[in-house]
Amino acid sequence: MNEYMKETNEALLHTYNQFSIVLEHGEGVYLYDTEGKKYLDFAAGYAVSSLGYANEELNTALKAQIDKLCHTSNLYYNTVCGKAAEALKRITKMDRIFFTNSGGESVEGALKAARKYAYKKGTGRYEFIAMKESFHGRSFGAVSVTGHDAYRKPFGPLVPGVSFAEYNNLDSVKALVTDKTCAIILEPLQGEGGINLATEEFMKGIRELCDKEGILMICDEVQCGMGRTGEMFCWQGYGIKPDIMTMAKAIGSGIPVGAFAMTEEVAEYSLEPGDHGTTYGGNPLACTAVSKTVEIFEKENLTAHVKEMGAYLTEKLEALKEKCDCIKAVKGTGLMQGIQITKPLGEVTNAALKEGLLVIGAGADVLRFVPPLIIEKEHVDEMIAVLEKIL
Ligand SMILES: *Cc1c(COP(=O)(O)O)cnc(C)c1O
Repeated sequence: MNEYMKETNEALLHTYNQFSIVLEHGEGVYLYDTEGKKYLDFAAGYAVSSLGYANEELNTALKAQIDKLCHTSNLYYNTVCGKAAEALKRITKMDRIFFTNSGGESVEGALKAARKYAYKKGTGRYEFIAMKESFHGRSFGAVSVTGHDAYRKPFGPLVPGVSFAEYNNLDSVKALVTDKTCAIILEPLQGEGGINLATEEFMKGIRELCDKEGILMICDEVQCGMGRTGEMFCWQGYGIKPDIMTMAKAIGSGIPVGAFAMTEEVAEYSLEPGDHGTTYGGNPLACTAVSKTVEIFEKENLTAHVKEMGAYLTEKLEALKEKCDCIKAVKGTGLMQGIQITKPLGEVTNAALKEGLLVIGAGADVLRFVPPLIIEKEHVDEMIAVLEKIL
């Protein structure tokens, strides 16, 4: 254990099981530790670093903004917030944006927006239907709609009025609907739950159910959004549109920022001045990260690149599955994929680390691949070669 690990272990609340390396800098899709060892990054800091590391255009814009202004509060307009919101409107196809600082905070806002909508309409609705194996964050509202005991149990009682349906089982959702149901929240592609992709039938069925029953549909795009599936946002591949959506992780390419967005129809009856706020939300630094990230995405047509790399990754993983008995399934799409394996996840991620590959688990038995979106075929080949060796 070196000095950095020792310092961290002595001062930090022990809430993370950390790998025994100290990362120091990054370049493209590679990270370097304090010993100078190079790692191919197929984790992207939990699907965050979409543009990889040391992107010159992004960093130049961030540095310039730091010298101008980092924070003003929402009492005043700033020169960047509107531009970032316009960029998010364009790529989300939503009408109104609220900036937050994280995914969990975006989920909180989305839930509050849905409750306020019901309140103002006077419907008396307040219940949420969420999915088993979902993950929506660590704050109370977010934990309350997270469908996994490990995240919930020590913190009860949680927000009341939440029930959990089986993912990709429309009948199990229908069975939970009451005249008090306010919103249905789901990830179009579950991340933490083990890389589970919603079927078209499920997404369309939920949209129809919501329309019929007067329920709002909330898509949590914190992990699967921002180009990761080859669509700008995952729901856009299903030919439906949610009423409210959340985003965070990749939208600032590494600078902490999130947002939730809604249609004008919802906005009209939802949060008003005094209802909701956040001190840092919409600050010029985070907004520079968002508007610059979107600009680079559009200029480089990154979604098309993700589609191409995603198809290549699937092909290589399927071929690997033929060779390794311990791989049971290839899951997900785009650059959010995983393999279900019979070997213990911890052993595999540690073996990968030794070989200079960063990968993370998802759920109980899925090895997850969420690299920076700028990877090329040679990086996929390099990753597959390591997997072949260790599996
Ligand atoms: C990571 C994640 C969150 C929580 O985001 P934080 O920034 O950690 O609060 C919420 N929803 C989904 C789908 C996530 O993957």
